[in-house]
Amino acid sequence: MRLLLIEDEERLAEALAYILKKQNYGVDMAHDGDIGQSLAESGSYDLIILDRMLPGKEGVILLRELREQGMTTPVLMLTAKDSIADRVEGLDAGADDYLVKPFATEELLARVRALARRPGQLVEVEKLQVGELCLDPKLCEVDIDGVLIKLTLKESQLLELLIRNMGQVITKEQILDRVWGLDSDVEVGNVEIYVHYLRKKLGSQYIRIDTIRGLGYCLKKTD
Ligand code: CA
Repeated sequence: MRLLLIEDEERLAEALAYILKKQNYGVDMAHDGDIGQSLAESGSYDLIILDRMLPGKEGVILLRELREQGMTTPVLMLTAKDSIADRVEGLDAGADDYLVKPFATEELLARVRALARRPGQLVEVEKLQVGELCLDPKLCEVDIDGVLIKLTLKESQLLELLIRNMGQVITKEQILDRVWGLDSDVEVGNVEIYVHYLRKKLGSQYIRIDTIRGLGYCLKKTD
């Protein structure tokens, strides 16, 4: 499950992201409405947690535009307001659920789980295809020419990140942040170990993970 968290109060956002990552959710963050919207449009998310009052584009307007574009991803709206009119406006804009600040983290997690379970709502996690290699992030499985290779959750998240950024250099710090979370005590050395595992498991028939010295890694199609 990959979540997009759009929240301008950075300390709250960091705290929520930390809690969500502890639950094995992948989390991307945006601190204003404009960046949030471009992430929502470009990324594929299973759930969006959207603060209502945002600098840049305001939450309700942003959500209305995303729904007009046909985005069906479940949206949990966070708000400091709790009037019926505000609630209706949020739901009318296309929010699936609503949480009034301040809230207990347990309540947030319960709402996230409920939205993730809602049948027909959750966008199917897409499989990622590179040549004859296909990653199923939900099952943590890679299919190479019909041969299934089981990955661990972290290996799968790492490969997903590399495939989504194919041809671009990803730093070890970015990998740590995206796969393990900002506050994780995992060190950069672990990234190297996981890349090593991935290379061993996947071989180099269709893709290869290049080390870009001093920078990070880059996934490329094998010529
Ligand atoms: Ca806000």
